[in-house]
Amino acid sequence: MRVTALRNGEAIEYSARILVGADGENSKVRKTLGVQTRVKESPNQYLFMLIGPVDSIRQEARQYFARGKMVGLYPTLKSTYVFYYLPKRQLNDLRSRGVESFRKELGEIEPEVSDCLDNLHSWEDVSHAAPMRVDAENWVVDGAALMGDAVHALDPAWAQGANLSLQDAVALADTVERCFESDDFSASALRPYQLERWKQTKFVQDQSERTAQITTTENRFYYWLGKRLIRNTGADPGLMKIALSASSGLTNHISMRDRIRFFI
Ligand SMILES: Cc1cc2nc3c(=O)[nH]c(=O)nc-3n(C[C@H](O)[C@H](O)[C@H](O)COP(=O)(O)OP(=O)(O)OC[C@H]3O[C@@H](n4cnc5c(N)ncnc54)[C@H](O)[C@@H]3O)c2cc1C
Repeated sequence: MRVTALRNGEAIEYSARILVGADGENSKVRKTLGVQTRVKESPNQYLFMLIGPVDSIRQEARQYFARGKMVGLYPTLKSTYVFYYLPKRQLNDLRSRGVESFRKELGEIEPEVSDCLDNLHSWEDVSHAAPMRVDAENWVVDGAALMGDAVHALDPAWAQGANLSLQDAVALADTVERCFESDDFSASALRPYQLERWKQTKFVQDQSERTAQITTTENRFYYWLGKRLIRNTGADPGLMKIALSASSGLTNHISMRDRIRFFI
């Protein structure tokens, strides 16, 4: 494999026995290799920001849901990480109302953060991202492998994207080690990596998408289902354990019986 990289406008040629593309959801490596891929854009938009530390949110996170809106507040060592979900088509409206009006809204949702919003001076202090689902048919070709969001970007509802990428790295490192031993970097020698990661990845992608469908929604029926899911899970330690182990990457399936229990 030969790669030409640009550094300060200067072209540098690299060559290697194997090329690993870990360049995110819009992966140029994936596109250059011509891997068949399905890309689905989410109707959701997320805003992210860091605000000052909030005394009452030092020990636990808080997350609020309403129809078509969700806010999460998570303590970090010296600040509070805030994410704010809204439907993508409402983003321009929100921005045109100004950052002062947004600060006011955050303060109304969680009055305890009102005094910690001083560092939100302008929209420059707020970043945003729209999730995308990527399903690549092949994660490996002769002499190259793709990993992480480049082949399986997913909705952030389960907060598993980075974890999946790290697990890919571990599995791929094992496979590549065997490729060096056998001096074979063909697609078939690299395939065990994809097979090892496939089931869990598809499980997490599908379930994250379903969770997003009922938690970040304007639809009344899905919103009602989402509230049921949250209420039932919170009331049953058995369901909490299933949800926790699935959303922490410790399992790759939930039985149909358990899926139904979340809703009835
Ligand atoms: C709204 C949102 C919230 C999320 N929340 C969570 C969460 O709570 N927990 C979690 O685990 N995951 C979360 N994720 C997912 C997580 O961010 C990704 O799954 C993870 O970052 C994927 O890692 P990656 O290394 O595959 O890709 P990336 O993190 O995208 O890294 C790709 C890297 O390649 C570089 N690159 C790309 N093209 C080039 C190029 N041509 N030349 C040089 N460098 C290049 C990029 O600059 C980037 O540094 C979230 C995602 C979104 C959209």
